[in-house]
Amino acid sequence: MNAAVIVAAGRGARMGLERNKVLYPLCGEPVIVRTARAFSESGLFDGGIVAVTGACDLDEMKRMLEEAGLAVRAVVEGGADRQESVYRGILACDPAADIIAIHDGARPLVTRGVIERTIESAKAHGSGVASVPLKDTVKRVDASGCVVETPRRDDLRAVQTPQTFDAALIRKAHERFRAGGADGQRATDDAMLAEWMGHTVHLTDGDVENIKLTTPEDMLLAGQVLIRRGEAKKEETTMRIGHGYDVHRLVEGRRLILCGVEIPHTVGLLGHSDADVAYHALMDALLGAAAMGDIGRHFPDNDMQYKDADSGKLLDHVVALLREKGYVVGNVDVTIIAQKPKLKDYIEAMRENIAAHLRIDLDCVNVKATTTEKLGFEGECLGISAHAVACIERA
Ligand code: MG
Repeated sequence: MNAAVIVAAGRGARMGLERNKVLYPLCGEPVIVRTARAFSESGLFDGGIVAVTGACDLDEMKRMLEEAGLAVRAVVEGGADRQESVYRGILACDPAADIIAIHDGARPLVTRGVIERTIESAKAHGSGVASVPLKDTVKRVDASGCVVETPRRDDLRAVQTPQTFDAALIRKAHERFRAGGADGQRATDDAMLAEWMGHTVHLTDGDVENIKLTTPEDMLLAGQVLIRRGEAKKEETTMRIGHGYDVHRLVEGRRLILCGVEIPHTVGLLGHSDADVAYHALMDALLGAAAMGDIGRHFPDNDMQYKDADSGKLLDHVVALLREKGYVVGNVDVTIIAQKPKLKDYIEAMRENIAAHLRIDLDCVNVKATTTEKLGFEGECLGISAHAVACIERA
């Protein structure tokens, strides 16, 4: 009897997300649903599928799997680290299972062939771990980053999941590890635990497309793979555009902050938050592109929690909202209209700030400043305004 443990207890830190990355949509469907479906539809798991996730995501994941019509044996709460989460998943498996496949929830592109090869190997040898040859040459380095040696590429493999094992073997490996059998070493995958037991781990052919979704670019790549496989429709227009505009009054006794850069000046911008007029225009452009209203709706200016708020933090929140809707930012262009002070020397720092918050290349961010030839409120130094346009794409 074959059982599967799908581990999805991690946060989306490297993805720039505020919650578990497997709950986000990939071509209109949550990543975890796509991963669980690959296992369910393979027809290889008569012992059922156990999903493991963080306590705060349990209910949402259960609901998503249910709505997708995917019957799983259990959705259980993960532990402090990956090993603890996997162990809890193993405990929730059917005790009668003699084969257990362990898989990353963030690898939705796994195919039946990849899964089946690991199972066959586990039946024959006790283990079957999906792997691919390396494309890049690998260097071992010392603490200062200098090359110590270059291992022969032919002797190296990049290891993926599923990692499938004889159930008794992997249970014992986890229990031994928990009992301190690894001398404090940290395991980055389950095969290591089996290795530490003295088991010779067998590798099977994985798939270069069986990528772990780690960065926003991985989402775009995965989308392309799904379209090619016919598992997602190519949208006619994947690009959306939004515009934002904002004005703040210049007054004495306030700081002047534009795109997160504090600029020395005799006056500053008045507002409920830090009054970063350029970030406000940018946020409105991003929200506009996603048809999600404006910042007034998301961060009301009568709400005390936004009093003197760092607009960079609000911008992070807007980016997370977009990601939740399945969008990534393509490029942005911000224009600041101010008679004084001269902004030329601060433009690069502004671009860098924006690129960091949006997690896009510097090359995709433009900031420019202009005066109004002393015309209008900007020209009379009564206030500063900003326009922004943003292009977003479906991940
Ligand atoms: Mg504003």
